[in-house]
Amino acid sequence: MRRKLVIGNWKMNGSRAANTILLAGIKAGLGDARADTAVCVPAPYLAQCQAELTGSAIAWGSQDVSAHASGAYTGEISAAMLLDFASKFAIVGHSERRSYHQESSALVAQKALAGVNAGLVPVVCVGETLQEREAGKTADVVGEQLDAVLEVLSAEQLAKIVLAYEPVWAIGTGKTATPEMAQEVHALLRARVAKKDAAAAAGMQILYGGSMKPENAKELLAQPDIDGGLIGGAALKAADFLAIIAAA
Ligand code: 13P
Repeated sequence: MRRKLVIGNWKMNGSRAANTILLAGIKAGLGDARADTAVCVPAPYLAQCQAELTGSAIAWGSQDVSAHASGAYTGEISAAMLLDFASKFAIVGHSERRSYHQESSALVAQKALAGVNAGLVPVVCVGETLQEREAGKTADVVGEQLDAVLEVLSAEQLAKIVLAYEPVWAIGTGKTATPEMAQEVHALLRARVAKKDAAAAAGMQILYGGSMKPENAKELLAQPDIDGGLIGGAALKAADFLAIIAAA
């Protein structure tokens, strides 16, 4: 039985003062939620998460990680640095990084590898654009994105990552994949992982992301291959984030 996992991706939002209020609100309302919970925050706020979340049931992490261990890579942040602040997760390959920063599937796979080797849990994101979906290319696109990771990680390493299906057309648009549409892609991704390693596939948490909200979370999370959510906008309001966690 896979545990449910709900991760808030704050993207480039927050301030020290606002974060304290948001984190306090989440902590206060979490109760004995059954789902695992985390927030992936801008790197400057990892120290704040460590200070304010240590001892709570909420884990934290980053929105990216360098493929390199150290050295002359201006602006990059290594896995070891993220671990210095007790980060658990590192999102890699978010569509906003693939499109605005030209990150290739091969680079995303190297980032996942660097993360898993260091002891982080990479949350590897895949997803198709609207144009690709309408052209009937969804399976090919997410398949290519996943295959890059399957090529680079061993079965043992694969068992330590989280996958997230985030259709690009559903991110920040208010349009959500129907539970059936999401389930179809999640099942396809799991089957593709199973071709490499059945045990890793059976245990892998595959999250859905893209306009997940309190109103649609329950139906999405009831699907057999949807193991949680990667939440953008709704993770910035404690009440909405808590309602999604409660639905998981
Ligand atoms: P929204 O929930 O704002 O659509 O963002 C989803 C997302 O990109 C999470 O990584």
